[in-house]
Amino acid sequence: MSISLKRSLILSLFFPFLCCFQGKASTELKQYSAAIHVHSTFSNGEHEVLELARFAKERNIDVLVLTDSFLTSVTYGIWPFDRIGIRGINKRVRLGVRDYGVGRYFEAVREAQRQFPDLVILPGVEVTPHYYWTGLPWTGLKLYAFDHHFIVLGLTEQQIENLPVIGNETWDNTEKRWTLILVPLALFLGGILLLYLGSQEKIQVGKDTAVRTRRPWALGIAIMLFALLLAWNNYPFGKFGDPYSGRSDTVPAQGVIDYVRNQDGILYWSYPEAVYPDVLMGGGTMVSEPHSEDLLLTDGYHGFEGIYGNRITATRPGKVWDMILMRYIEGWRMTAPRVTTGIDFHYFKDPGGSWYDLNGGQTILLMAEKSEAAVLEALRKGSGYATFQEPAEGLRLYDFSVETLDGAKALQGGEVEGQSPVQVHIHLDWVQDPPANNKPFQLELVRNGEVVLKVKQFLPIEFTTTEELSSGPHYFRMRAAWPRKIYDVLSNPIFVNVP
Ligand SMILES: [Zn+2]
Repeated sequence: MSISLKRSLILSLFFPFLCCFQGKASTELKQYSAAIHVHSTFSNGEHEVLELARFAKERNIDVLVLTDSFLTSVTYGIWPFDRIGIRGINKRVRLGVRDYGVGRYFEAVREAQRQFPDLVILPGVEVTPHYYWTGLPWTGLKLYAFDHHFIVLGLTEQQIENLPVIGNETWDNTEKRWTLILVPLALFLGGILLLYLGSQEKIQVGKDTAVRTRRPWALGIAIMLFALLLAWNNYPFGKFGDPYSGRSDTVPAQGVIDYVRNQDGILYWSYPEAVYPDVLMGGGTMVSEPHSEDLLLTDGYHGFEGIYGNRITATRPGKVWDMILMRYIEGWRMTAPRVTTGIDFHYFKDPGGSWYDLNGGQTILLMAEKSEAAVLEALRKGSGYATFQEPAEGLRLYDFSVETLDGAKALQGGEVEGQSPVQVHIHLDWVQDPPANNKPFQLELVRNGEVVLKVKQFLPIEFTTTEELSSGPHYFRMRAAWPRKIYDVLSNPIFVNVP
């Protein structure tokens, strides 16, 4: 082996470590603002993608995450034609990304990206994994779980087209159920058989005797037509969940989570406690209920919207989010969900507060650079925090980190291993001058689901607290807010393992 080859081998062995070590040492994470959960005219938003990009740029937003609805209609059919029934949801007809074309959606985003290179624009989709009906058409139908949504990011056009969600069954994305194929096939063959069967009758014509065969043509053809209709209904001979079971089912939702995760995409539950009225075509009712139990019943998703324009209990100390985080550190769950702010933006409403603007509810992402890959990575890890602020550009959590006794350190969304006691650093301040109606913030530091520290004061809040930890896994998270949450900061968790 030549010396140069040896040297290149040695270099190639060590180079990755050198590169990463240097990269890490010189990496300075900056805070970038993201508007997440935005609808354009590709679903029921009022503005085109290009306009939204311009609005985001005007508001100094760094990242625009579009989440147009993938499919917006539901189907109710009467057995056995369960899939070729009445379609519809709102009285106002709505279309989604699948109707307009995923390719056109991606092209619109690419065009906006070309015109606004300084802004990162992601073409995400909002999907309904499953819904179910109760009642009967003549007594009044009720539609449940249609408001249980996911925000899905980081998938290719084809991966979105193949999403395994109710109403999007295709030949490729379904497992075949043989009964759905065999029943119409058997009926069709039965119909053919009837055309050949029949009773023979002798007819006397003068001196001759003729034989006439009576065949049940009409019945045979009717059965064949019925079989064809059934095959059309059953195509593509596989389905996700049963919308007529009359009960909640998170198996289809878990299927979507697994699909997105296997494709290396990102999935957040949207507004788990939002309740909104909607009207079905044909007099049915859509029932919208808080569904934060879905967060507990599913695993593998990246996070959920922790701040949005409704009352939220899941993020309160000791509630659903902490229950999940505890199960994670105790080893009962595969993943620990992170949080974002979901603005569910459709149009500007004046006057309506910042929930009707693009920059009131911001998710702040900690990234080394402003790029699509960095945004996806930050959302995957939960590097950053959810906020609501008015006016925008209001405040920043300049530091929330945990440092072990031996000097190892982790930021939000991160993990660290080291000796106890650990130091928790917090620094929250206004970016510019405080607002005229300035009020003190109530800050809570949560450790393993329990509030371990409360502070109530005007900004800036800057301190370091020392925490004794037992051997084993722990996590910290924090929240700081005004009364009535006009200003609100919800951090992502930091995980600490003490050997
Ligand atoms: Zn939405």
